[in-house]
Amino acid sequence: MSNDTLRDLSQNPLVQKLGVPRIPVLRRHKPGAPLLAGPALVGAIGAGRFADSIHALLEDAGVTDAGEEGKVAAVVLDATAARTLDDLAAVARFLTPAVKRLAPGGRLLVLSPEAGASDVEAAAVAQAFDGLIRSAGKEVRAGATANLLTAAPDAPPAAVDSSVRFFLSARSTYVDGQVVRVGTPVGPAQDPVGMDDPHDVDHPLAGRVAVVTGAARGIGAAIAATLARDGATIVAVDIPAAGEALARVANTAGGTALQLDITAPDAAERLIAHVQERYGKVDVVVHNAGITRDKLLANMDADRWNAVMAVNLRAQLAINAALLDSDVLSDTGRVVCVASTSGIAGNRGQSNYAASKAGVIGMVRALAPKLAERGATINAIAPGFIETEMTAKMPLGTREAGRRINSLRQGGLPVDVAETVGWLGQAESGGVTGQVVRVCGQSLLGA
Ligand code: NAD
Repeated sequence: MSNDTLRDLSQNPLVQKLGVPRIPVLRRHKPGAPLLAGPALVGAIGAGRFADSIHALLEDAGVTDAGEEGKVAAVVLDATAARTLDDLAAVARFLTPAVKRLAPGGRLLVLSPEAGASDVEAAAVAQAFDGLIRSAGKEVRAGATANLLTAAPDAPPAAVDSSVRFFLSARSTYVDGQVVRVGTPVGPAQDPVGMDDPHDVDHPLAGRVAVVTGAARGIGAAIAATLARDGATIVAVDIPAAGEALARVANTAGGTALQLDITAPDAAERLIAHVQERYGKVDVVVHNAGITRDKLLANMDADRWNAVMAVNLRAQLAINAALLDSDVLSDTGRVVCVASTSGIAGNRGQSNYAASKAGVIGMVRALAPKLAERGATINAIAPGFIETEMTAKMPLGTREAGRRINSLRQGGLPVDVAETVGWLGQAESGGVTGQVVRVCGQSLLGA
């Protein structure tokens, strides 16, 4: 049993007979499991630049091509050549019969062109994909998802590989209705994961050192465990008061624990010294530590405001500035900042928290070009309703509302956020930077 009783009950045919719709049990990644549970239908509009490399990636992963009929585990359409409304009509002609064939838990992934400024019809068509895919996300059923990769005109075919793999896999189970831009990868060219040894697909973070703040519990502990599972060495950071839990997380992950209040004036210095001494470099920095101090704006006091800003935003700004000033971040550095859908949609009683999380998104966008100069990326992940100790303590009505107002009609798990961190943390994900990816099951809030 999970802590989502309604979803568990809804699996029972007798309960379904009472008119309770079945809430899907989502497929989650298991090491060694195939990328897809069935065949894939792959199409292209015109001269699809990415179709060949997607075919090669699927073949490498042992995925078969779908025939003319029958259920498919994924539909992938390279529509990056679409420029006109006629092209867009061809997209609809391909997708209409294709989505009918999508199996439970299936994946719809479309690659679209980036809007340019010169050709107005092409710009309109490029933006049209946004509405198309977000609507498809709301229509596909039984745990299926729909996402869009917008490819920059100069992005080489291999730039999308790690993203295609993520969005097709069970790792992206709670990522739905998202639009992610993929550009020319920053930094040195990367060997595609799994090309030499297909088993490496299970260890896409092999040899990488990852710092995770707020790692003692909740989402941070899941990030530490998931990145370690994928091959990373973990530096688990949390406040001294969480020392015991932190040591457990670090031991299980096989890394080191660093007791550190990230708001301390010397926090960035100590963090950098720790990784420099132990490992000589850091590849992935995950800013996950965060706090809430909810109060209506009309009653907000300076302590609540400042405490939230200090942990959620000021500390991230200081650590990122120190990383930029040092040479500890490797030339495939990946910074991942945990924001929140509250920072996108706003939330009653959370003006301080939402401001801090929206601030994280602003920081990510401003830092992306600076980090790109050093071959590094920075992205934000905005979780929606995630089943944690925090959400378990909510009053039943608020909790139920939070859980159900998304396309997958359930909350996500900490591991769903962690898997998304893992994708962005790969050396191979250098084409994705300055993006905000919501892990929210396509929540109606902030959509
Ligand atoms: P949590 O409270 O369970 O864990 C947060 C961790 O951060 C704790 O271990 C805490 O000790 C640590 N921490 C707090 N202040 C710190 C400091 N000054 N220095 C070092 N560590 C510190 O929270 P969670 O639910 O796991 O959330 C993790 C992140 O995800 C947060 O940034 C949160 O805002 C964000 N988030 C959570 C949800 C959700 O539904 N749980 C939704 C959206 C966003």
